[in-house]
Amino acid sequence: NADIAMYKAKNKGKDNYQFYASEMNTHTVERLAFEARLRRALERREFVVHYQPKLDVMTERIVGAEALVRWNHPERGLLSPVEFISLAEEAGLIARLGMLVLDIACRDILSFRNVDKNFGRVAINLSGAQFNDVHMLEEVKSVVDFWRVPSNSIEFEITESMVMHNREQAILLMDGLKEAGFTLSIDDFGTGYSSLAYLKRFPVDSVKVDRSFIRDIPDDPNDTAIVLAIVAMAHTLGIKVIAEGVDSATQLETLRECKCDEFQGFYFSKAVADKEFLQLLQRQNRGA
Ligand code: C2E
Ligand code: MG
Ligand code: MG
Ligand code: MG
Repeated sequence: NADIAMYKAKNKGKDNYQFYASEMNTHTVERLAFEARLRRALERREFVVHYQPKLDVMTERIVGAEALVRWNHPERGLLSPVEFISLAEEAGLIARLGMLVLDIACRDILSFRNVDKNFGRVAINLSGAQFNDVHMLEEVKSVVDFWRVPSNSIEFEITESMVMHNREQAILLMDGLKEAGFTLSIDDFGTGYSSLAYLKRFPVDSVKVDRSFIRDIPDDPNDTAIVLAIVAMAHTLGIKVIAEGVDSATQLETLRECKCDEFQGFYFSKAVADKEFLQLLQRQNRGA
């Protein structure tokens, strides 16, 4: 890539060449420094996992949580995953980061189950690079076995584009995860291919309707119609529907009318540290 950029720049004349070359160097240097920093952060386990509660739309009870990673950077504080996930992927570090997140989540699931023996599932996001990794399934199983966490308390969130990229291999991996007892969900549903024909072929348990479709319901009749259509289609296929990014009572009311199954969003809670999530579970168990 660098060679191609260099070649293109060269052919535009000397000034351009220098311009591109210096810009590229700064970029490369920064990137290498960031990679080194990320690698060290993995060794030092500078990552924390926060949990956003997932609730049943009808009962408004917590049925699980989504695990969302944050980098506890010594100088910059808690960094959002949008600031480092794609760089971790490019640097070939996502498999290690993913296993670290799974490891932390397994430990936390044990304490959630301690407080609430009926605790449902923790959903873990997978990235595309992990999905193309042939060792992923075995690694996942060994981490989960190590902690003796029942596999049905773990759900994996994958996106449509990850699956569509290499369809046959993706289906094999999904089948492997399902065989091992994990639950599968399609994240950000509606933003990708959203093909009903494919959904039928994928062994998924639920779809998560993307936040962009939830934001303007019920005011936007098109979005409301889309949510209704997704629910009708998913339920026909025996698939549950989860709404993400729910931040108002009106949205929740609309979702109830649409027969959506579960929701998560700032209306109930943002992603919180494991201790805080435990408190939410305790409060619920006391009947509050
Ligand atoms: P996502 O999986 O779609 O996660 C939902 C994001 O929406 C989270 O942001 C969450 O905090 C945010 N959110 C939840 N409810 C609301 C709401 O009501 N309003 C608004 N405005 N936002 C809401 P976060 O934690 O910054 O995560 C961003 C993305 O980073 C995730 O999107 C996911 O794709 C990725 N990610 C997070 N953790 C991991 C991980 O462990 N592994 C991988 N591969 N990706 C991760
Ligand atoms: Mg997700
Ligand atoms: Mg999502
Ligand atoms: Mg989303």
